Amino acid sequence: MTTAFYTHPDCRRHDMGRGHPECPARLEAIDDHLIASGLQGGLDCRDAPIVASSDLGNAHSSGYVAELRDVLERVAADGQPRALDPDTVASSGTLNAVLRAAGAAVAATDAVIDGEVANAFCSVRPPGHHATRGQAMGFCFFNNVAVAARHALDVRGLERVAIIDFDVHHGNGTEDICAGDERILMASIFQHPLYPYSGAVPLGDNMINVPVPPYTRGPAIRALIEANWMERLDAFRPQMIFVSAGFDAHRDDDLGQLGLVEADYTWITEKIKAIADKHAGGRIVSCLEGGYNLGALARSVAAHLRVLMA
Ligand SMILES: [Zn+2]
Repeated sequence: MTTAFYTHPDCRRHDMGRGHPECPARLEAIDDHLIASGLQGGLDCRDAPIVASSDLGNAHSSGYVAELRDVLERVAADGQPRALDPDTVASSGTLNAVLRAAGAAVAATDAVIDGEVANAFCSVRPPGHHATRGQAMGFCFFNNVAVAARHALDVRGLERVAIIDFDVHHGNGTEDICAGDERILMASIFQHPLYPYSGAVPLGDNMINVPVPPYTRGPAIRALIEANWMERLDAFRPQMIFVSAGFDAHRDDDLGQLGLVEADYTWITEKIKAIADKHAGGRIVSCLEGGYNLGALARSVAAHLRVLMA
């Protein structure tokens, strides 16, 4: 059984402008490193399909899905970029990128549930974990992981799934969508205070939020994960695990001030895999979120994939 790797050239055609850290080169850096390191040959590489509107509607309000689609279609037609918030800009390529990013997460979910692959990584952009039920923000348009988790529950009939988010920023959008949904247990760790400045007070009993101060390094973060996440994840017995895999808590990443290194991403992925192996038949779907230092991003994705592929 292999690890699927979902991506699509359309995900590089979403362009928020010169100098924006959430740039097409991120996916190129990952691809280049996977080829150079020889890892790519061991992956089941698949094209990300377009997501179904019904799947978007399981995580987002129908009004938001229609409104965003309308805006992105207009931008695609007239080519005039449009800012949805100060950090989040739609370009002519954004419509297809957001539909492929969410589509990758859903297709990966189906492939893993159907037993075609052991687990999957979605190397997609834009990221999703800041997108709330009804709002684009923080580089995010649709919440890829929440859409996939709801697909597993609402369409594929699973009863319990976990979402793990180790991006340096709090996954406020995923929390907004999933808080109070007792079929989901979300465990996250993030720098606080930092954009979007939420998460210190969880919005539901199914949220394990671990805010950490700037300059926290790997050993302390590992201890916090061990102490706060593992027992509850084990007791929850998730049937599948979704990962918001942001690599901007890396010490070389300028968007946050945490101090993780590649070995920490290996360790976190091993922890996730152990829970998945124990309760979920190994089922993991991991989706790229942040990670803006191109070298650190590519090496960290490789560390994450090596564990998924093992
Ligand atoms: Zn982030």
